[in-house]
Amino acid sequence: MSALARFRDSASVVREADRVLFRNYKRAPVAFSHGRGVRLFDLEGREYLDFIGGIAVSSLGHAHPALVAALADQAARYIHVSNLYQIPEQVAAAERLVAASGLPRAFFCNSGAEANEAAIKLARRYGARQLGGRYEILTTYGSFHGRTIATISATAQEKYQSGFQPLLQGFRYVPFGDVEAMAQAVREETVAILVEPIQGEGGVNVPPEGYLRRLRELCDRKRLLLMLDEVQVGMGRTGTLFAHEQDGIRPDIVTIAKALGGGVPIGAMLTIDEIAQALDTGAHGSTFGGNPLACAAGVAVLETIAAERLLDNCRAIGARLHERLARLAAELPMIRQVRGRGLILGVELDRPGRPLVGAALERGLVINCTAETVIRLLPPLTLSAAEADEGLAILEGVLRAAS
Ligand code: PLP
Repeated sequence: MSALARFRDSASVVREADRVLFRNYKRAPVAFSHGRGVRLFDLEGREYLDFIGGIAVSSLGHAHPALVAALADQAARYIHVSNLYQIPEQVAAAERLVAASGLPRAFFCNSGAEANEAAIKLARRYGARQLGGRYEILTTYGSFHGRTIATISATAQEKYQSGFQPLLQGFRYVPFGDVEAMAQAVREETVAILVEPIQGEGGVNVPPEGYLRRLRELCDRKRLLLMLDEVQVGMGRTGTLFAHEQDGIRPDIVTIAKALGGGVPIGAMLTIDEIAQALDTGAHGSTFGGNPLACAAGVAVLETIAAERLLDNCRAIGARLHERLARLAAELPMIRQVRGRGLILGVELDRPGRPLVGAALERGLVINCTAETVIRLLPPLTLSAAEADEGLAILEGVLRAAS
């Protein structure tokens, strides 16, 4: 008998979870048994449309045949050997990311926080070696860069830092979207600027047009590193593989994770040769980082995004959802604003969004709420027009019922 067979319904999982797991997550009382495409099915057999994709991770949807085949093939050959040896799958994943980004060196790890942790270490080491000991990193209010001590120190939100002081030194915060404030904050010790192209957890905050381009100019002028955290928006979510492509700039360092593995944990940091040299042999590492299974997943995801023209689909379906949500906003005063790009969309409400997330779940739509009042949609990039309309109809019903 399978070890999971005793979990016959979601309630049995809730009971056991409460007994043995930390209570650090606020989980909905639903346990899924499997998924197909944009659909999820719970242990009771109920069907859901997944408009959150495991928080911007399941970009190919669930059980995509190309990803399943790549993982099955890889698992049957070898899953892990460590970075003591050459890993062809890691090289193959790096080649694709390097070609797509124009940043010639890749480092792999296992999560977004680890990718940013690596970027922070890289910036400090480069500052120490090449820029006369500069170490300070400027980040923005409302940002989210992860949950390690270094990345909560970079994350300018009190709620993620509370109780974990003393934080890591060497970070200062400025308002998001404000290039002048950033310019004024730069001082002798500053080595880098770290920002998200669109703040995800902070409430799907889209900066003013030209923000990244002007930050690039500032960094060039002051000889700072521009580090972009594309953990949530990278890998096609905004309609281009990297969100910053739309600004016509190249960052010095970019971090990705989430969607890269289609659900298999993986993170990566990309940069140019000169900066990468600061992490010379022995300077940084990870046992699991870039392991064959994760990298085989990464290759399959990148190939599928290209083969199925998912960037085009993301732009088209994103525009469709955005337009319909904007029309709904014009009708319902409880919607303050609809924002986002491609398939990262935020619907800001005049009230807490959590009850609406619960109501949507009961009606078979999986969404989430961030920054208290922002309903966030992060559906798979494979979402069809029909599925988009179906999900939107449920969301509309929930919003109308609440208004
Ligand atoms: N950076 C951004 C922009 C994120 O959205 C997240 C997670 O939501 C992270 C970093 C942290 O990634 P992880 O949870 O994989 O550590």
